[in-house]
Amino acid sequence: MAKELFYKTKEEIELIRESSLLVGKTLAEVAKLIKPGITTLSLDKVAEEFIRDNKALPAFKGYSGFPNTLCISVNSQVVHGIPSLYELKDGDIISVDCGVLKNKYFGDSAYTFTIGEVKLEVLNLLKVTKESLYIAIEKAVVGCRLGDVSEAVQAHAEKNGYSIVRELVGHGIGQALHESPEVPNYGKKGSGLKLQEGLVIAIEPMVNLGKKAIIQENDGWTIRTADNLASAHFEHTVAIGKEKADILSSFEEIEEVLNNK
Ligand code: MG
Ligand code: MG
Repeated sequence: MAKELFYKTKEEIELIRESSLLVGKTLAEVAKLIKPGITTLSLDKVAEEFIRDNKALPAFKGYSGFPNTLCISVNSQVVHGIPSLYELKDGDIISVDCGVLKNKYFGDSAYTFTIGEVKLEVLNLLKVTKESLYIAIEKAVVGCRLGDVSEAVQAHAEKNGYSIVRELVGHGIGQALHESPEVPNYGKKGSGLKLQEGLVIAIEPMVNLGKKAIIQENDGWTIRTADNLASAHFEHTVAIGKEKADILSSFEEIEEVLNNK
């Protein structure tokens, strides 16, 4: 990742918003179809078609050779899962991560879904992971430092007895999918880059039910927990704000679908 920081104009931020909102709409299309028996590959096909129908490109397809539109990570898989003929079953959770490129700007967001009846301890992991994202977003304001964002995720997750994946981080986003700075989900309050208006970052807590250690599967992509316990992942693309962060992606359409299921 280049070290240079790219501060965006208001016009550029609107373009990133457009891409990020399309990601949310895509994930909502996926949400409509999630049920026991459906393959993760069929979810991927629907997402790709929807993105292309909206005159955008799937950002992950071909990225460093990644074969698909979505990263779909099941249960103990943390991130970068490759869609496959695996059929979802009652009790599973899946992190669905999606990126699009439209008008030369990227958007990136992820949501962890439940399939059927999921164990209470796993439901609580999802709840806490999503909370940690929003608590961190409160720190994505001028006057805070990057370490405040990172520490907020870590503190909330660890307070609840969970562990934070260290090797994978959030990132700046704009004309590249992954720009500087790296946005770790652990850190020290008051440390790191001073946050300024114009900076746009993807904040993406990856939180494990058990221990923090991860391993990579033999496919060269999929990351899963070493102890094989569940992991959750939520992500928003966010512009640093003066008093309040501007969340450019949205879970609204996704949660509307989920609430009406
Ligand atoms: Mg993502
Ligand atoms: Mg990301």
